[in-house]
Amino acid sequence: MHDLVIRGGTLIDGSGASPRTGDVAIDRDRIAAAGGVAGRGRHEIDARGLLVTPGWVDIHSHYDGQVRWDPYLTPSCWHGVTTVVMGNCGVGFAPARPEQHAWLIGLMEGVEDIPGPSLAAGLAWSWESFPEYLDALEEMPRALDVGAQVPHGAVRAYVMGERGARNEPATPDDIRGMAEIVREGIAAGALGFSTSRTLLHRAVDGEPVPGTFASEDELLGIGRALGELGRGVFELASDLMPEDTELAWMERLSAESGRPVTFACLQNDIDPGQWRRLLAAADAAAARGARLAPQIAARPTSLLLGFEGTAHPFLGHTAYREIAHLPIDERVARLRDPEVRRRILDEKVEFTDPLAAFVASAFHKLFPLGDPPDYEPGPDRSVAAIAERAGKRPEEVAYDLLLERNGRGLLYLPLLNYSNFDFEPIREMLLHPRTVVGLADGGAHCGIICDAGTPTFLLTHWVRDRRRGERLPLELVVRRQTRETAELYGLHDRGLLAPGMKADVNVIDLDALALAAPEMVYDLPAGGRRLVQGAKGYRVTIKSGRVVFADGVATGVLPGRVLRGPQVADARGRSG
Ligand SMILES: [Zn+2]
Repeated sequence: MHDLVIRGGTLIDGSGASPRTGDVAIDRDRIAAAGGVAGRGRHEIDARGLLVTPGWVDIHSHYDGQVRWDPYLTPSCWHGVTTVVMGNCGVGFAPARPEQHAWLIGLMEGVEDIPGPSLAAGLAWSWESFPEYLDALEEMPRALDVGAQVPHGAVRAYVMGERGARNEPATPDDIRGMAEIVREGIAAGALGFSTSRTLLHRAVDGEPVPGTFASEDELLGIGRALGELGRGVFELASDLMPEDTELAWMERLSAESGRPVTFACLQNDIDPGQWRRLLAAADAAAARGARLAPQIAARPTSLLLGFEGTAHPFLGHTAYREIAHLPIDERVARLRDPEVRRRILDEKVEFTDPLAAFVASAFHKLFPLGDPPDYEPGPDRSVAAIAERAGKRPEEVAYDLLLERNGRGLLYLPLLNYSNFDFEPIREMLLHPRTVVGLADGGAHCGIICDAGTPTFLLTHWVRDRRRGERLPLELVVRRQTRETAELYGLHDRGLLAPGMKADVNVIDLDALALAAPEMVYDLPAGGRRLVQGAKGYRVTIKSGRVVFADGVATGVLPGRVLRGPQVADARGRSG
């Protein structure tokens, strides 16, 4: 008798194979059989008419702080994610000298827009080294497995102190010291190392993430540590300036260390064809024996603008700033006052804040997000287009849209991957064999971005709903966020419905699957705010053989744990 049998579902097994009807049998935390007819189970789930998939493996999150207080890691867990990798983009909380705690919080707050007071209240620092951080994470049972990466920002400041934090060049001794810390972290179970090379990522004091300008010697010196251990991924976000030089060291690092390098690859408006060159570079590198995995997003990286959030088009207006301090309901009441409205809309603004200036000048690319949210609106749906049709100014239209839903209205500003006002570039990237799907950024950008629901979006939009272009096959979309993401990080025990694999499974009602409209909640420690997005249609999510979510409700069972390095499938089944 099996512990659990999922009966008669449509299996999308993560390998990319065509859907087939069959049972999945689970014994303890492993899959015993997938496909065909299984014997009886102590518990059975009727999955007739439902999809059965591996649990999603989300490799790009920033839960490094939240992981200390939230055993569920919402919102990712609401979207069928059963494994999450954090510590991306060079930021995280270990290693950490006691006198650097506040600075590390400021770095995370600046780069990822996670409220500093929430981090200060929730972190409960009990570690200094990276291995001690992993040990501390093990104190809490969880609904999903968590993997960590060693972040360059923390390593540089730990080894080089102020010089490191201020992005001064590293000496050969510094590099040896950093490589040793990274080696220690990877040996203790970190899944990789991450760094940031973009000027968009800055600490609260404006300083780019330590390591942003790191020399090739520093990067390769650290990469060698991964190579010596024969494990770990090298992850980065880069401005790719200059592009050729950046790609060249990435390729050298991968070729020399034998380790994969994954870098953020998104279409940008200044150079909308660059992504094609990046995919071609990954192909060329592969032909020369290096593995570059352009990390792509399944939808635009988008700002969500609202009166409760980090940015909206009226932030720079004096008449708005006068009431900005008021609690949201009072503020909305004032914003509805025709006199306040007139003063704000009539004001000629001198912008000092670049973000405020940018969002106030992007009405052609600003859209009502709507409910259900529309992430691929045509240019005729923009605030500028609506205004033109109505004979109004775009500012007026934006103002009134933001006041919808009791002042909780959100405007969608696709920042990247939307130069053409459609998803064709994303589709091509999703079809490219060397790309890897990531960048959902769970836990980060709390006041302005909410893409943690990307795993669900891949099914709702790309498989089922897309109208403005071709959709994608279900089995491809499932493989991309299960077997492929798991394989990149050496997690060969998951991402596939096959004997010996971890019993991480989603049972999904695809017809009912839906993303909720994002909303601001105030549930972080110390009452901090964050945007979240829920989902409907996940009937059951199973982690290590235990049901952790049933119809969107947590069962309270917490079988998840901290991943320690690469994983292999159980000997009874095939290995990775
Ligand atoms: Zn990131």
